[in-house]
Amino acid sequence: MTPHVLIIGAGVAGLVAARRLRADGLRVTLVEASARVGGRAHTVRLGDHSFDRGASWLHDADRNKLADLARAKGEVLIDSDAARSRRVLIDGRIADRHELMARARAWQRLEDLAGAVHEDAAFAGTITALRSDPWTASLEAWEICQIAAADPERISVRDWQDNQLDGRNLSPARGIGTLVQEHLATPVELATPVMALDWRGPILAETARGTIRADAVIVTVSTAALNKIRFTPSLPVSAEHLPMGLLTKVALRARGSDRLGLAVEESVSARIAPGEAMMSLLAWPGGVDHVVAFIGGPHAWALHREGAAATVDFVRAQLRAWFGSATELSEADLADWAAVPWHGGAYAYAEAGHADIRARLAEPLAGGRLVIAGEATCTNGLAGTVGGAWLEGERAASIVRAALQPHA
Ligand SMILES: Cc1cc2nc3c(=O)[nH]c(=O)nc-3n(C[C@H](O)[C@H](O)[C@H](O)COP(=O)(O)OP(=O)(O)OC[C@H]3O[C@@H](n4cnc5c(N)ncnc54)[C@H](O)[C@@H]3O)c2cc1C
Repeated sequence: MTPHVLIIGAGVAGLVAARRLRADGLRVTLVEASARVGGRAHTVRLGDHSFDRGASWLHDADRNKLADLARAKGEVLIDSDAARSRRVLIDGRIADRHELMARARAWQRLEDLAGAVHEDAAFAGTITALRSDPWTASLEAWEICQIAAADPERISVRDWQDNQLDGRNLSPARGIGTLVQEHLATPVELATPVMALDWRGPILAETARGTIRADAVIVTVSTAALNKIRFTPSLPVSAEHLPMGLLTKVALRARGSDRLGLAVEESVSARIAPGEAMMSLLAWPGGVDHVVAFIGGPHAWALHREGAAATVDFVRAQLRAWFGSATELSEADLADWAAVPWHGGAYAYAEAGHADIRARLAEPLAGGRLVIAGEATCTNGLAGTVGGAWLEGERAASIVRAALQPHA
């Protein structure tokens, strides 16, 4: 009898694993808790344009399989690095060349200091000596709270270094969610959340639509969603020290001139004082009539607790202060990933003292018949990305295929 593999979660990792195993002739049941595929790759319409609520850049494009697929399918890919320029605001005005040079020097000092740390410490603690530099708070907010979506007091400096992104960044004109939905399509059972998983013998998954029995299982859910599944026996490695960070995106339609005179695809951040909240902005991506605000880390969690209206109000107030009143701001679309029950945050980061947690959680169980895979378990520098999720889907598929080989 053909081996039967259950895959939990139809994000990039789950879709890639399902397609691989089906191509190999295995019977696959792919279940998804929500009513759509793509997971954290999700494109919506905002006016006449696309807005990616989750992933929007194909990072490290030369080793990103999703970028290869997009090219093969003839998708338009915008070279973000060529198109984008960066602005930094100081007290509402654009920083000059000398100020930017001071920022670059502060960044170099920060990287050197963090790089010299030998123990697996928290990021915030490792840069204490730089606290008096006027740029330190802003650099920390940008790198840790926004890019890593993490809490500087908790994230392992080693995990941060291992996953610093490199290479070119491309952005698909039709959105990453659209790309995933159209080009990674494979049969899925939607609205089928798995609540419990028994892996003592044959796999028994308790879902909202009954029990599924399988020979092997691949679990691709976020670490927050993983903690909600009841495993029997319990997983030997807990995802407790691989918490979900938060990056909240708010898109607003914006028309008219702005006081700063921002051009298409300009990426804006601000110099902040210690403890102050940072919001960054992408102005008119690809020339469309909206801007996208990003809020990350502890500040994003605080706004999440206050609610969607408070988050949008915060963004509007910040934009008013930056742009002046000549810019007309209309409908907004908010992507608060902590509010989505099947995600519980944006992407995972390892806590200080647990830099090896991604690799430990990725270790195959039950002789390769149970594999946890997804952005969180990626250990080749692409954690937290769609490119990493793809590689994890491939990894899980080959482990399961090898484990079931004698039966195949
Ligand atoms: C705001 C934001 C911005 C981002 N920006 C970028 C970017 O620019 N570039 C980039 O590369 N990456 C970015 N990312 C990260 C990227 O989106 C993720 O790393 C990637 O999509 C994760 O894929 P995955 O398959 O591991 O998990 P997911 O996409 O989360 O897929 C897991 C699936 O499992 C489902 N699920 C959960 N629990 C259950 C259950 N019990 N039973 C059944 N199904 C379940 C979920 O609904 C989900 O569909 C961003 C993410 C966010 C949130």
